[in-house]
Amino acid sequence: TRLAINAAAEAFPAWAAMEPAKKRILFLKAADILEKRKDEIIPMLAEETGAALPFGIFQSLISPEFFREAASQVHRVTGKIIPAEIPDCFSMVLRQPVGVVGGISPWNAPPVLSLRAICFPIAYGNTTVLKPSSQSPVTGGVLIAQIFEEAGFPKGVLNVVTNGPGRSGEVGDELVTDKRVRRITFTGSTDVGRELAEKCGKHLKKITLELGGNDPVIILNDADIDYAVNAATYGRFMHQGQVCMNSKRIIVEKPIAAEFIDKFVKKVSSLKVGNPKNADTIIGPLINSRQLDRLKVQVEKAVSEGAKVLCGGKHEGNCYYPTVLSDVTEEMQIFREETFGPVAPVITAEDWEDAVRIANNSSYGLSAGVITTDLNKGLRIAERLETGVVHVNDSSLGDETHAPLGGMKDSGWGKNGMEAVEEFTEIRWVTLQMKNRH
Ligand code: NAP
Repeated sequence: TRLAINAAAEAFPAWAAMEPAKKRILFLKAADILEKRKDEIIPMLAEETGAALPFGIFQSLISPEFFREAASQVHRVTGKIIPAEIPDCFSMVLRQPVGVVGGISPWNAPPVLSLRAICFPIAYGNTTVLKPSSQSPVTGGVLIAQIFEEAGFPKGVLNVVTNGPGRSGEVGDELVTDKRVRRITFTGSTDVGRELAEKCGKHLKKITLELGGNDPVIILNDADIDYAVNAATYGRFMHQGQVCMNSKRIIVEKPIAAEFIDKFVKKVSSLKVGNPKNADTIIGPLINSRQLDRLKVQVEKAVSEGAKVLCGGKHEGNCYYPTVLSDVTEEMQIFREETFGPVAPVITAEDWEDAVRIANNSSYGLSAGVITTDLNKGLRIAERLETGVVHVNDSSLGDETHAPLGGMKDSGWGKNGMEAVEEFTEIRWVTLQMKNRH
C-alpha cells in the first residue's frame, strides 16, 4: 500500500497539470478498450462473482460509460470570481484537485463500483490507489489496471492494491493514516463504512460513504399490477438480490395486496436458478457460504417471528431459491436488516400515507421506488421519502453514470456522477490586491 501511495503521490503534480483535453483522450480510449473486451468480461464476472447473464450484461455495458462520463467532466474543475469588499482587490474562488484519493470497492458489481470510485477523482486531476475486494481482485482491480495501462494513462495515476481474505484492514488503515492520501471513497457495508469514518475522523480526513440499503418499493392501489410484479421482481432479484439498491422491502396497499402477492409469487417461482454461465439462469449463486448462512438465519428468524414463506426458502449449494415472505411486520428483524440475497419481504400498508411511514421506518436511506399511475401523487410521495434516490413508477434499482447517486441516513454521504466534483476537489479563496491597501 505504501508503494502504491508513493507512486500516486509522485504522479500527482504532472497529472494535475496535464491539459484537460489530453486527459479526455485517454478516458475515451479506455472506454473503447473496455467496450471491445465486453464479451470477455461477462464470463469473468460469472466466474469471479457468480453474476448471471443479465447482471453481467448490465455491468459490461455501463462500465465503459464511467470512462466517458469522466471524459465529459475534465473541464468541471471550475472556480469563480467573487465581489471584494476591499477597493482594487480581485477576489476569486479556485477549485483544485486534492492529491491522492484512496478508493475501496466491494465485490457485488466490481468493475462498476471500482470505476465509479476512481474515474471521477482522476478526471479532476487527482491520482488514486484502488483496493478492490479480495472476492473480486480481477474484475474489480487488475482488469481495470490493465485498461488504464493500455489506454496510455501515465504510470502512477491509478495504482491497484489487492489483499488476501481478512487483510483489508491493513490496506484501509494505511490509506487512512498516510497524510498524502487526502480523500477516501468507500463503497461497501454500513458497518465497515462506519468503522472507517471513525478512523478518518481521528485524522480529520474526508471520506465519502456509499453504504448498504434496505430500499422500499411502494405499490399503490392504482398501480398496473402486472407492471408492479415485473418491477418488484427486477428490483428485488437482479444479481440474486446482492445489489445495494435492490428493492428489499415490498410495501403494498392493502386492497391490492392479495392479487399482487399471488402474481408476484407466480413470477418469482419461475426464475431459473443455477449455473450463472448458462444463458437462461437468472438466479446464480451467492458470493460465498458466509453470505448464504447469514441469509438462511435471517429467513429462519423471520419465520419464527410469524412470516410465511410463499415460495423458495431453500438452497442448493450457494444458490438460494428466490423467496417471497408474506405477513412481514415492522417489528421483525428482517424488516430492519439489509438482506443481501434473493428474499422479498412483503409488508401491507393501510393507505399511501401508512406506506410512506413504513418506508421511512428504516435506519437506511439509499433508494426507493413508487409504483403508481398517478405521477402527481408519486412526486408528492417522492418528496416525503427519506432516501437519496427515488424512482416514481419504477423499482428502486437504477444506475446512470452521470446521476448524483448517493444515500441518506445509514446509507452514507457524498454523491457521485455530476456532483462528484464537490467530493474530490478543494475550494480555495485567493485574492489579488492590485493597489497597496490603506
Ligand atoms: P464490505 O464487507 O464492507 O467490503 C467492502 C470493501 O471494504 C471490500 O473491498 C472489503 O475488502 C473492504 N473492507 C472490509 N473491511 C475493511 C476494513 N476494516 N478496512 C478497510 N477496508 C475493508 O462490504 P461487502 O459485503 O463487500 O459489500 C456489500 C455491501 O456493500 C452491502 O451492504 C451493499 O449494500 C453495499 N453496497 C453499497 C453500494 C452503494 O453504492 N451505496 C454499492 C454496492 C454495495 P475485503 O472484501 O477484501 O474484506
